[in-house]
Amino acid sequence: MSAEGRILVVGLGPGPLEWLTPEASRALEVASDLIGYGPYVERIPERAGQVRHATDNRVELDRARHALELAKAGRVVAIVSGGDPGVFAMAAALFEAVDQGDETDRAVNISVLPGVSAMQAAAARLGAPLGHDFCAISLSDNLKPWDVIVRRLTAAAQGDFVIAFYNPASRARPDAIHAAFKLLRELKSADTPVAFARAVGRADEKLTLSTLGEADPSICDMSTLVLIGSSETRFIARPDGLSPWIYTPRHYGGGR
Ligand code: SAH
Repeated sequence: MSAEGRILVVGLGPGPLEWLTPEASRALEVASDLIGYGPYVERIPERAGQVRHATDNRVELDRARHALELAKAGRVVAIVSGGDPGVFAMAAALFEAVDQGDETDRAVNISVLPGVSAMQAAAARLGAPLGHDFCAISLSDNLKPWDVIVRRLTAAAQGDFVIAFYNPASRARPDAIHAAFKLLRELKSADTPVAFARAVGRADEKLTLSTLGEADPSICDMSTLVLIGSSETRFIARPDGLSPWIYTPRHYGGGR
């Protein structure tokens, strides 16, 4: 095994280069190989001598094994994900491959470089909805059974967390977000603030603010992050047609 080979697990942030950390940026410069889902690899400017391995979305584990083999052969491999690489992304797939692998995989030098996750970018646009306790749930259905989603959603509502939904519109089960809203409507107040943050930081960004009672979850697509408030989350109305802020106070139950 070459001593120089290593893996850098890089998050590109949710969109613009401003949200790529300087550390992640350097990693993309020094890498001999880039591995990732096609659209993410395409966001990175081409560099002479750098090998690009763009793959399909559903082959994370193969991608991770490929990265391990390349690193063991002495390559400096950047595995790229959108947002933060540890949030519903490639870092977990890589460690799954290491966990299932042999001793040589465990010896590979791996660095996970943090990035800005979609939830943080969306929250920043909206105000401060994550100012108090929150949780993140992926509605992607190929990795966990629906009854687990129901159990977690129920617990999140009962625990009065702010909830962030990643992957709200799954190709395989487009009804998931509708079922999630139906369940939350039974458990939470109709005036709970809801936000659909689509393509945050990109040219086609769109923020849609609503309430749990009135929101239309069919506007979600694969580029949408959904935020559902807690009982404390509120709007601050603004003048002159400006979009309201959404925030969750730092003090729970601290006087409205
Ligand atoms: N690792 C990523 C999440 C990957 S899961 C991160 O930390 O952000 C993919 C989901 O992330 C999408 O279905 C969507 O829910 C969310 N997402 C990613 N980029 C986004 C963006 N620019 N705006 C809104 N949501 C985004």
